[in-house]
Amino acid sequence: MHYISTRGNYPAVSAAEAINLGMVPRGGLFVPERLPAVDPAPAASESYHQTAQRVLEPLLSDFTSPEIRACIEAAYNEESFDIPDVTGIKQISERETVLELWHGPTAAFKDVALQIMPHFLVTAKRKLGKQAHTVILVATSGDTGKAALEGFKNCEGVSIIVFFPDDGVSEIQKLQMVTTDGDNTHVAAVRGNFDDCQTAVKSLFGDERLGRLIAREGFVFSSANSINWGRLCPQIVYYYRAYGALVAQGIIQAGDQINFAVPTGNFGNILAGWYAKRMGVPINRLICASNKNNVLSDFIWTGRYDRNREFFRTMSPSMDILISSNLERYLFEISGRDAGSVTGWYEKLARDGGFMIPEDLKGAMQRELVANWVDETRVLETVAQVYQDAGYVIDTHTAVGVAVNRDREDDGLHTVIDSTASPYKFSSDVLQAIAGRKAADEFQSIEQLCRISGQPVHRGLANLRERPIRHDRVIDIGAMRETVLGILGM
Ligand SMILES: *Cc1c(COP(=O)(O)O)cnc(C)c1O
Repeated sequence: MHYISTRGNYPAVSAAEAINLGMVPRGGLFVPERLPAVDPAPAASESYHQTAQRVLEPLLSDFTSPEIRACIEAAYNEESFDIPDVTGIKQISERETVLELWHGPTAAFKDVALQIMPHFLVTAKRKLGKQAHTVILVATSGDTGKAALEGFKNCEGVSIIVFFPDDGVSEIQKLQMVTTDGDNTHVAAVRGNFDDCQTAVKSLFGDERLGRLIAREGFVFSSANSINWGRLCPQIVYYYRAYGALVAQGIIQAGDQINFAVPTGNFGNILAGWYAKRMGVPINRLICASNKNNVLSDFIWTGRYDRNREFFRTMSPSMDILISSNLERYLFEISGRDAGSVTGWYEKLARDGGFMIPEDLKGAMQRELVANWVDETRVLETVAQVYQDAGYVIDTHTAVGVAVNRDREDDGLHTVIDSTASPYKFSSDVLQAIAGRKAADEFQSIEQLCRISGQPVHRGLANLRERPIRHDRVIDIGAMRETVLGILGM
């Protein structure tokens, strides 16, 4: 399987090269040249590992089966995930099931990808004979940062530098990041918002002079953001897994169509669902759920992408995003792989902050995606409602998915809602929703939430308060380049 650029500006590369490069050096994202077909309804006894093997093998065809198996086993085990099956399902009403994607070390769905991606990268480098020391640069709105730090911590031949918006992440997210151990991890708080951080990281990647400068010292940049195919492909697995679990539990029959509702920010998770659909999972609609930063749902309604708008800080901060990187992959596919148009749109986005797609494309998009957004009040109401009706606590991101799903026209099909974070990760807002009060701090929120709901506290959050702070850098946006060079000792 080869990987090609969404902008038609780079030769086709192997999966190992696509993962090693992260993004296309001249701009653009790597996508599989064609999508393999993978059977959606496995034997009832299939394990998560076996599903992962079946889905990943044809996508990473230059990796050997034992190489893929070794990556899967190193990533998904009892040390990193608190249930043997990696992801779990919980039916909350007759036609709604929540897919728990947060059983990994950092309590958010990004662990599913970021526990395995470092193993892909190390394997890819070995296969390609790459000697350079990889420097992973991450811009995070909260959850990616910690998940990447945990994934890459003590990873051989790799260092990781994470930038997060100082006021744009929750107290728990910040603590999770600044307490990270490992001798190759670096964290900096940036005075700016997430999009500022992400734009600055992208420009570091795009800076050819900087690239040459660090190469002379034996370094090369790479990315752990969901623009890296090695990050996206493991997410396809759980769409297969969820479908198999619904069949195994008799909630649906093999072959039945279902929907997935996905709380969306960078369009990565929902895109993985779209790939799963194209590879064979019987998915009718993908429901793109936004919070108040509704740039994506507006785009899907109108065909006009417009990032020139007010940026809101919400209770679902991991979705507070105005530039959804992975949308580029989707537009490439639905435009019939029209790299010229994609290039034009993204040049326009960089220049003017927006672009417009033609009517027929908008129609094609609306046939497979349903999009909507909900406000903050609705998020709290939804957390409370699900708790009252199903006795089950969801977090504020998951609530966006549930609410948007409940608002759309009913098609009679079962819908799986991706649960992207443990409620304990955002416990003060969740407590507010359920008990109508705030606690003194995040830790007391966790305790009180546990007392009320009886759901066990996620083990990744249980001991956070005792951990020493190891990273205390705070920098201006303009200082990111020199911070990187300083960390590399240059
Ligand atoms: C990252 C994240 C999202 C958004 O996922 P995308 O792949 O960027 O669309 C939603 N919820 C949580 C909790 C997240 O961490």
